[in-house]
Amino acid sequence: MDNCIFCKIANKTIPAKLIHEDAELMAFHDINPAAPVHLLIVPKQHIGTLAECADEHAAMLGRMLLLAPKLAQEQGCGYEAGDGTAGTGGFKTLVNTGPDGGQEVYHLHMHVIGGPRPWAGQR
Ligand code: AMP
Ligand code: ZN
Repeated sequence: MDNCIFCKIANKTIPAKLIHEDAELMAFHDINPAAPVHLLIVPKQHIGTLAECADEHAAMLGRMLLLAPKLAQEQGCGYEAGDGTAGTGGFKTLVNTGPDGGQEVYHLHMHVIGGPRPWAGQR
């Protein structure tokens, strides 16, 4: 999509602090972090909002969710898995949808927000 900032990050037209990339998803640090750790998990395919997702996107949405604790752990805000896997204080996952949902970038993304509280910005 022309003029979509996350498509431009996906096709490397503009830079981002990438921490994960595979064939389907990318993840990078939010440019305006609301907490010590603030990541965005983003499909490379342009999908405007969560409300546009359909059955065909179910597996991809599941993989977005499953990537969150892995990246949170790597960034120092994981949470113990219950099997003794080391963690810390945990994190928040958030998908804003539409104007009343506070969505600013209309390319589907999931926030992963964590780190020791109190945070400078609350979301
Ligand atoms: P939302 O309000 O859910 O649409 O969130 C959009 C998020 O994208 C905000 O937290 C912005 O700080 C973040 N953002 C916007 N542009 C960039 C960029 N070029 N690189 C990284 N994060 C960005
Ligand atoms: Zn896009």
